[in-house]
Amino acid sequence: MKSVIENKRGAEIKRRPITSYVLKIASRCNLNCKYCYVYNLTDKTYLNQPAVMSDEVVTSTIQKARNHCVANDLTTVEFIFHGGEPLLVGKDFLRNFTEQARKILLPQIRPSFSIQTNGTLLTTEWLQLLNELNISYGISLDGTPEVNDANRVDHQGKGSYHRVKAALDLIKSDPNFELRMNGILSVINIHSDPIEIYRHFRSLGLRAIDLRLPDATHDIPPPGVDVNGTNTPYADWLIPIFDEWFAEADTEFNVRLFQYIIGLIFGSQKSTVDVGAISSNFAVIETDGGIEPSGALKACYEGITKVGLNVLSNEIEEIFDIPVVALFSTAENELPDTCKKCPIVSVCGGGKPPHRYSSANGFNNPSVYCRDLMKLIVHIQEKVVAELPEEVKSKMNLAPLKELVVAD
Ligand code: SF4
Repeated sequence: MKSVIENKRGAEIKRRPITSYVLKIASRCNLNCKYCYVYNLTDKTYLNQPAVMSDEVVTSTIQKARNHCVANDLTTVEFIFHGGEPLLVGKDFLRNFTEQARKILLPQIRPSFSIQTNGTLLTTEWLQLLNELNISYGISLDGTPEVNDANRVDHQGKGSYHRVKAALDLIKSDPNFELRMNGILSVINIHSDPIEIYRHFRSLGLRAIDLRLPDATHDIPPPGVDVNGTNTPYADWLIPIFDEWFAEADTEFNVRLFQYIIGLIFGSQKSTVDVGAISSNFAVIETDGGIEPSGALKACYEGITKVGLNVLSNEIEEIFDIPVVALFSTAENELPDTCKKCPIVSVCGGGKPPHRYSSANGFNNPSVYCRDLMKLIVHIQEKVVAELPEEVKSKMNLAPLKELVVAD
């Protein structure tokens, strides 16, 4: 008998071209979330960054993105406005960026735009502008007022929930809401009641949530994880939510982490940041023009993303020469030794690269969430397989993966 999940890794993966740019257009934020990798983990390089991306960097970014598209026969490119808090740049910045991008790229290359905001500065005027410029948006919120405000606070320590809720109410009153809203991005707090958090998100009338594992490494483990123990607090928090979401079978409400895991179980090549290890295709451009790998690496050590490249003097292609970039650009080739032998690596992918890091072994560790990921993925696989008709299961000769993991 075989399991649904098989170790399909092994073939050498070629790097994929960059199709998305995460633009750090503002390096400061009006919030000061306690878990933020930009301000409150090990890296403090934001202190040397310009507060806002300059016109010169904007023009060079678009031109270098164009060169990369032409060199790789790409006809679309995605720009994701990020920060810090991207709305701090002001409305003229976004108008200028999108105008320049369309002028430099069209008609051969079609740009698309989105913004990830904490929502606290969103107004009717901002919403009108995002509609006018065809920019979709995602909002960050961690759950109920009490849970959100435990971490998502401003520089005076005041919680942000009520300001974000006001923004969500504003968004939902907009006729373009369903077209533009990408969903809620939420960092998991295991000290909360998972079902209460899930039902709270459901009550907000949204279409999607992205539940994210807190950024952490083996040196600075996530809250509640005993690296030498056997506990699985994140799986134990996520499983009740999965069970309720799966039982509801509401195709109008998407919990992205679960959808990606189910897709990966059945061989999808789409992954989210926390699972999958499918080579990613994005680069970060900092406010000073720095071309960098994922900002989440900042959880590892000071300066890790400063790879010495800049849109003012380098081409995007050059990022592929930087060793740490391979963790993302050819992720399937860079798996830790333990993960290569794991029966669920084709779904888990070793987790997010920064979560593997320790100062002793670099990135050659399974994720600091390994036990949680294994328990969650096995649980989802069992639930999903149980729904398959007996005839399909017997034709495919499938056995529950749990037996394989326990026996391994
Ligand atoms: S992190 Fe753990 S569960 Fe994930 S692939 Fe590696 S060994 Fe397997």
